[in-house]
Amino acid sequence: MRYCRFQYKDAPAYGLIEAVKGEDVITRRVTWLPNGDNAVSLIDAIPLATADLLAPVEPSKILCVGRNYREHASELGNEVPKEPLIFLKPPSSVIGPGDSIVRPPESLTQRVDFEGEVAVVIGRRCRNMTEGDDGRKYIRGYTCLNDVTARDLQKKDGQWARAKGFDTFCPVGPIVTDEIDLGKGVEVTTKLNGEQKQHGNTTEFIFDLGVVLRYVSAFCTLEPGDVISTGTPAGVGPMKAGDVVEVTVAGIGTLRNVVE
Ligand code: MG
Repeated sequence: MRYCRFQYKDAPAYGLIEAVKGEDVITRRVTWLPNGDNAVSLIDAIPLATADLLAPVEPSKILCVGRNYREHASELGNEVPKEPLIFLKPPSSVIGPGDSIVRPPESLTQRVDFEGEVAVVIGRRCRNMTEGDDGRKYIRGYTCLNDVTARDLQKKDGQWARAKGFDTFCPVGPIVTDEIDLGKGVEVTTKLNGEQKQHGNTTEFIFDLGVVLRYVSAFCTLEPGDVISTGTPAGVGPMKAGDVVEVTVAGIGTLRNVVE
């Protein structure tokens, strides 16, 4: 299924997306049930192109994999990690498609980078996933995520809470789909002002999704709606005011944000 979150009659709602006569249309409202299932109800169809889209996630936590592409690890002068390198972004950093990435004052940071990634949205509670367990049953779908990073603070602070955690540093969207398979290879591309800066394929992951889910669920319970971002390919770089950054994941779409 493909779904979005959108402004519907003065309140946010999740909407099921279907192709009708070649056009993507929101046809049903989706409600997530505690057991991981969902309930849908018919609504008057709204073309996706005209919908007021919101971030399609409301996570209790956002976990990110650092240095999960070999070339990106080396471009920042880091060794390829021997086990997944996991850090957190706060839910308060989430913004939706079309929202502005607000750079903090220059007194705090002089370099704010884009990191285009494909992210996983959890659909069922997951704790202590075992080796033989199929991770797909815990996954509601996949979306685009920009792991915006204050690169200078990442080096200076010794841990990454500030560097990764400013308000607006986690654009997510535009939609979520379960109709792609990262194991088969999905392309992740980032453009800045229309120029391609990053290009990777999920077949290049150092740690695949199963390894990451087992590693993460061994120390924290994953709840429905939680987000795991899978790491960024080589080519990260800074953004300045007025820049337009676009993260495209094949089969999902393009997450577009302007920088303030
Ligand atoms: Mg990242």
